[in-house]
Amino acid sequence: MICEMCGAEVPRTKLVMVEGAAVHTCPKCEKFASSPAVKTKDGAVLLPDVAERLDSREKRRKERDIYGDSGEKELVIDYPERIRTGRQRKAMNQEDLAKLINEKKSVIVKVESGEMTPTDQLVLKLEKALNISLREIIEDGAEVKISNSPGGLTLGDFIKVKEKKK
Ligand SMILES: [Zn+2]
Repeated sequence: MICEMCGAEVPRTKLVMVEGAAVHTCPKCEKFASSPAVKTKDGAVLLPDVAERLDSREKRRKERDIYGDSGEKELVIDYPERIRTGRQRKAMNQEDLAKLINEKKSVIVKVESGEMTPTDQLVLKLEKALNISLREIIEDGAEVKISNSPGGLTLGDFIKVKEKKK
């Protein structure tokens, strides 16, 4: 690769911001750069903090793929209602359900009233017994908006640009 600052042929160049422009430099010229920049697959130049955030999101997404999960699952807000409705659909009273999943009736009463948050294990048992879903996938996208970014480029802007391309 060729350093865009001194023209030297080097095995590896680094993309840095030089006075607001993204330039590939050799290690020697790197010191002239104001801050390192990162180029995305789309060819957009990002400031390090923005790139870092996108990168960590990308990593999280990959980790999920490994585990075959499309997102983090979280207990739904209306779980008491879902449990009650699911139980009634199966024509069970609270005691029947308690027996079915090997819990005390008081546990069912508390969970259905929202007084008690079911443990993961209990959630699984209830989902299976009632054939319902008590968790929903929480997407981590769209919430990041970086302000006060030194270069004026925010992640929000980046996302907007990406969306326009679609
Ligand atoms: Zn150079």
